[in-house]
Amino acid sequence: MNQIFPSNRKKLLQQIEEQLVWDVLVIGGGATGLGVALDAVARGYRTLLVEQSDFAKGTSSRSTKLVHGGVRYLAQGDFRLVRQASIERGLLCRNAPHLVKNQTFIIPVYNYLDMLKYTLGMKIYDWISGKFTLGDSLFISRKKTMQSMPGIKAGGLLGGVLYHDGQFDDSRLAINLVQSILENGGCAINYIKVTGLLKDDNQQINGAVIKDVESGEIYNINAKAVVNATGVFVDGILQMDDPSSKKTICVSQGVHLVLDKKFYPSAHALMIPETSDGRVLFAVPWHNKVVVGTTDTLINEASLEPQALEKEISFILETAAAYFTEKPERNDVLSVFAGLRPLAAPKEGQKKTKEISRSHKIIVSTSKLFTLLGGKWTTYRKMGEDMVNRIEKELNWQHKKTLTEDLHIYGYADEVNWNDPLYFYGSDASRIRERMNGTANEWISDSLKIHKMQVQWAVEHEMARTVEDVLSRRTRALLLNARESIRIAPQVAQIMACELKKDEQWVKEQIVEYTKLANQYILK
Ligand SMILES: Cc1cc2nc3c(=O)[nH]c(=O)nc-3n(C[C@H](O)[C@H](O)[C@H](O)COP(=O)(O)OP(=O)(O)OC[C@H]3O[C@@H](n4cnc5c(N)ncnc54)[C@H](O)[C@@H]3O)c2cc1C
Repeated sequence: MNQIFPSNRKKLLQQIEEQLVWDVLVIGGGATGLGVALDAVARGYRTLLVEQSDFAKGTSSRSTKLVHGGVRYLAQGDFRLVRQASIERGLLCRNAPHLVKNQTFIIPVYNYLDMLKYTLGMKIYDWISGKFTLGDSLFISRKKTMQSMPGIKAGGLLGGVLYHDGQFDDSRLAINLVQSILENGGCAINYIKVTGLLKDDNQQINGAVIKDVESGEIYNINAKAVVNATGVFVDGILQMDDPSSKKTICVSQGVHLVLDKKFYPSAHALMIPETSDGRVLFAVPWHNKVVVGTTDTLINEASLEPQALEKEISFILETAAAYFTEKPERNDVLSVFAGLRPLAAPKEGQKKTKEISRSHKIIVSTSKLFTLLGGKWTTYRKMGEDMVNRIEKELNWQHKKTLTEDLHIYGYADEVNWNDPLYFYGSDASRIRERMNGTANEWISDSLKIHKMQVQWAVEHEMARTVEDVLSRRTRALLLNARESIRIAPQVAQIMACELKKDEQWVKEQIVEYTKLANQYILK
């Protein structure tokens, strides 16, 4: 069973002050940075990860929630990426079984060419996964397809191709990775921003200037290797290193809508391989709701709170309506969220984001700033391994083998009851339930199954600092039902204020700030 520890900000800051030199400093607390930090700390390197906002505040809490080989990359003929992602999918299922579910998907087919294409395609997908497969694909009859997907449009339906992939909770995995880093002796802290890089007399990077966003305090951190894992913000850090550095990424936005299950009342996810704009669209059951998306729109500027565009919202609603029996309207949307994909900037001659490889890329500058970009959540572990290998090579450190292939992630549990509202806490669920005993009436939200104890737990053990941290990333209330999350925000603020010893002014400000933010997740 995992060791339990309080995530005391004061102690973590003290550790940062006392440590004279770190082996590895990672900038960015999304999937990429967490993967690097865990790999480094597991190899025994003194590792510090800093995140300017909350862990997974960026793209890493806004994904389609799939741990997948990537059917889309199969269609593009990128078998290497599919193979690598399939292996990682298998490892993640093994190491975080409390968060990754074996999910069946069905591709409904409406013509014979598609029937042949997708049946064969998914057999190749199975074959590429080899021993890491989550189950065999098969063609199912029209009758079985209609039984399995009660809402699906029947006109012209010939049957469906059923296959397996993984499905997970992205920000919960991020929080568990933070806990794994701490458990293995590393340090990871949120609300700490890198504002500059430090260099030695030979112009080689040897640390960074960091700012505690809460107190305004500035620290100089010495580190032998500094890793830029800031997703769509990588260019900002690269420019701290070299103000003349060129743009390495472009930004593509993906939007998801969350709907009530009645629009798609199936245990199987729906996969539409080719929408009218040539994209893949998913409808995935998630925490008793259904997540529908995504889009792929090039946008000009990166932000931590990207906004869904009207055309993206109507595209998803229209595409879903063509497959669901009951047509979802705007006011049926429980939440809308957008995420930004950091894509490696296209080479000359390439224009469309769809043509750009989704593999990850490592850049090492002349001053030895290590940048890791691209990739996906599914491959976060491999990305971390590749980065630490590269650091060892570039800095002439003795190679140590990665240990993350077999490392159980914090919360690991042998048995998971997916119907338990606390399932995503894994091995912590029993501890939270123990605390809930005798306080059964203290549910803050009955419909989302959020209990007072979960808020306290998030502050004590999961480094939640704001109402948004609790409602967006420790629980998923903001994404599951933005209106309900606004309703419960005042109670959450009060509970947090007691835990964090904050005053009424803090409570008021938190409620105002959260309400403003959550309103952006509601379609008016
Ligand atoms: C719409 C969409 C759907 C997706 N769906 C899937 C999916 O289903 N499955 C899958 O495997 N992958 C999916 N992906 C890909 C996956 O989500 C991303 O590859 C991954 O989350 C990127 O993580 P990251 O850590 O690189 O970036 P981020 O999560 O954005 O993290 C970067 C972090 O760096 C921090 N930062 C920036 N500047 C500083 C600074 N100066 N100091 C400190 N911190 C800083 C930011 O605050 C941010 O939290 C999807 C991507 C998108 C856009």
